[in-house]
Amino acid sequence: MATNGFSGVCYRCGIACRAGAGVAEPAPGYKRGTGGRLVQNWNVQHAECALAYRGFRFDIGACERPKDMADADRIHARLVLAQMRGAAA
Ligand SMILES: [Zn+2]
Repeated sequence: MATNGFSGVCYRCGIACRAGAGVAEPAPGYKRGTGGRLVQNWNVQHAECALAYRGFRFDIGACERPKDMADADRIHARLVLAQMRGAAA
């Protein structure tokens, strides 16, 4: 994963993510960039959101924004536990 070179909106929590504060992943499709040029779409998410929601397809912009990396770890652990409980039920 690469550090985001441009600011954007985190696709996990829907909150603005400034350049360098998150990670960028190539997304399907293209959009119009400077001068109408077609440029690759990128998805941006906070580094904390990437940690908290890794392995989960929560990409609706409605996730809780972790306060820090430790908080992100707690959220991830909670999600894994919930998933295990769901699978066992
Ligand atoms: Zn986020």
